[in-house]
Amino acid sequence: NLQSSKTLSNGVEMPRFGLGVYKMTDHEETLQSIDTALKVGYRAIDTASLYGNEAEVGEAIRHSGVPREHIFVTTKVWNNDQGYDETLRAFEVSLKKLNMDYVDLYLTHWAVPETFEETYRAIERLYDEKLIRATGVSNHHEHHLEKILAKVNIAPMVNQVEMHPYLQQQALSAFCHEHQIAVTAWSPLGRGGVLDDSTIVEIGKEIGKSAAQVVLRWHLQNDTLIIPKSVTPSRIAENAQIFDFELTQTQMDKIASLNSNQRFGQDPDHFKFDF
Ligand code: NAD
Repeated sequence: NLQSSKTLSNGVEMPRFGLGVYKMTDHEETLQSIDTALKVGYRAIDTASLYGNEAEVGEAIRHSGVPREHIFVTTKVWNNDQGYDETLRAFEVSLKKLNMDYVDLYLTHWAVPETFEETYRAIERLYDEKLIRATGVSNHHEHHLEKILAKVNIAPMVNQVEMHPYLQQQALSAFCHEHQIAVTAWSPLGRGGVLDDSTIVEIGKEIGKSAAQVVLRWHLQNDTLIIPKSVTPSRIAENAQIFDFELTQTQMDKIASLNSNQRFGQDPDHFKFDF
């Protein structure tokens, strides 16, 4: 069911499915989208200080009638706020905007080469202080994680990376699972760019599901957590209808064969950290 969750390495339950709110900039539209999502059963919201909508996320949750502790809120520290003290300060700002007294998961948004290790140390401290329920990172390759794992007391519990049928990240995913790091796919639908794929459309026809539902179900069956984005109420509902069917091994294999290492976003090793 929609509340299906993954147990993180510290025992916290993280919903396998949530709403991503990147590029939701219009105040009303953001409130409406989150409200729709919570009404149809979503229980996780993925935001970031970069997205400029933490205030709307907090407001929509407070007005939803769903108790705060039933919703899993993720936010992220942006690149120009990285560093130990800087991250602690950035977290305080995020918490104020959300108007909450804790966050479920706090992530380093990108591995800025000079500062990502210190940034994660600050996230560890926030965890020790019980201001966040789980620690994590985003856009970290194996070599970034190895550096972090060598130093810290608390391993990151989540790594959120670009992942979809054209960028399957099998090696990174295996590395994470080996280290009990849950993997969340950002752009799980390839920003919509994988939905016209004839193989995926064909599988959808076989089972009477949309291309988006096929792709999201494929992620779930790979043990990947997902945060698809939509502001269209019918799509928000459609994207959640993925717990009542199963792809066969043949269908899973067909999708596995679509990998082309094609990114719709930036490669963490070549991110333009221009600030
Ligand atoms: P996505 O793969 O979720 O695609 C979203 C787009 O797909 C929508 O804008 C819409 O055009 C289309 N779409 C959605 N549902 C559909 C449906 N049922 N039918 C047809 N088209 C549909 O891409 P995304 O928004 O880039 O990623 C999702 C979330 O991941 C973001 O909102 C954000 O929370 C997170 N994210 C994180 C990072 C990071 O660096 N950590 C980067 C990008 C995104």
